[in-house]
Amino acid sequence: MALDLAKYFDNAAATPVDERVLAEMLPFLNENFYNPSSIYLASRAVKQTLQTAREDVAHWLGARPSEIFFTAGATEANNLAIEGVIGQNPNTTVVLSVIEHESVLEVPSKEQARFVGVDERGMVRLSQLENAIDDTTCLVSIMYANNEIGTVQPLKEIADLISKLRDDRRSRGIDVPLYFHTDASQAANYLDLHINKLNVDMMTLNSAKTYGPKQVGALYVRSGTVLKPLIVGGGQEKGLRSGTENVAGAVGFAKALSIAQKMRHDEAHRLEKLSQKMVEELLKIDDAQLLGHKKHRLANIVSILFSKLDGERLVMMLDEQGFQVATGSACSALSDESSHVVKALGFSDEEAKGSIRISLGRMTTERAVDELVAILPDLVKEARLLT
Ligand code: PLP
Repeated sequence: MALDLAKYFDNAAATPVDERVLAEMLPFLNENFYNPSSIYLASRAVKQTLQTAREDVAHWLGARPSEIFFTAGATEANNLAIEGVIGQNPNTTVVLSVIEHESVLEVPSKEQARFVGVDERGMVRLSQLENAIDDTTCLVSIMYANNEIGTVQPLKEIADLISKLRDDRRSRGIDVPLYFHTDASQAANYLDLHINKLNVDMMTLNSAKTYGPKQVGALYVRSGTVLKPLIVGGGQEKGLRSGTENVAGAVGFAKALSIAQKMRHDEAHRLEKLSQKMVEELLKIDDAQLLGHKKHRLANIVSILFSKLDGERLVMMLDEQGFQVATGSACSALSDESSHVVKALGFSDEEAKGSIRISLGRMTTERAVDELVAILPDLVKEARLLT
């Protein structure tokens, strides 16, 4: 990747499109622009390319191509998973963790949603989860890795619990289905996505966080899982997501996912070392603490809470020095409220305002990390004086 974005530390918000991805996409924006639904040869070739992209995505999940549905991003995939199940099963409820992304949290109505808390490291409380699931629950949605603090959830353990409850429900003759969905938006660069290892029924993927184009994503839907479509029309994506397919987007995403999954071990290893070094240095600053789980965390997210400090001010100061970092998530940064994720860890509104998220990525260098940790202590001091 030729771009010099070493000082860009907001990779959890957006990643640049990899040039190899862009190269794969371009022909489908110009000479191969055809509508995949038309019947002449050129269109059939484009349709075949879309199918190949679907096969490529399915490969990394160990899924069948027929179980992959392309969407216009992860927000839509999350909406489709939740609204799709509720729409198909009226008068049921869904169970969500309190640290889900807004595109999950905002979907069910107050009456339809039950929430499960997390511990101080951001791990879903399994006993609360078990208690929250009752015979009206048709869906559990727990994210794979959190976008603000990086905590990785034990999906397999959660899936086993859900399987047990599903079996119990069946043995009592209750026929409300119980599905397990995970939002894996932040996971593809570092974690294994095999659905049978994780034992999920639906999984959201996000091209925009994987060095692919924005507004492209996919929902894996295990065969046998019935969803009501959100967007109706021409019946594309087997009727689950109408609208002329974004072939260039799907091709780009498939390429981006392949690159990310091929390099995930090396990248996780490289970034773990860099983020560990960063954490060690930042924890030397007075009243600084690392948020999230120490071990079960994404290699690229360092979320730090500084007491008595306005995180937004610190972010602006860093920007003046050429470093881009975030407070909370890019999406919640649109509102004035402090992060619902940091508050869920047990911090007050005021305390939560002192958190910043530094998210590393493919362009991050050791030198940039060293430069960032060298200037932060003084900037934190200055920001505290101004707070
Ligand atoms: N889920 C998670 C965990 C995210 O981090 C994001 C984006 O920040 C989304 C969903 C939504 O992705 P998009 O805005 O690309 O639809």
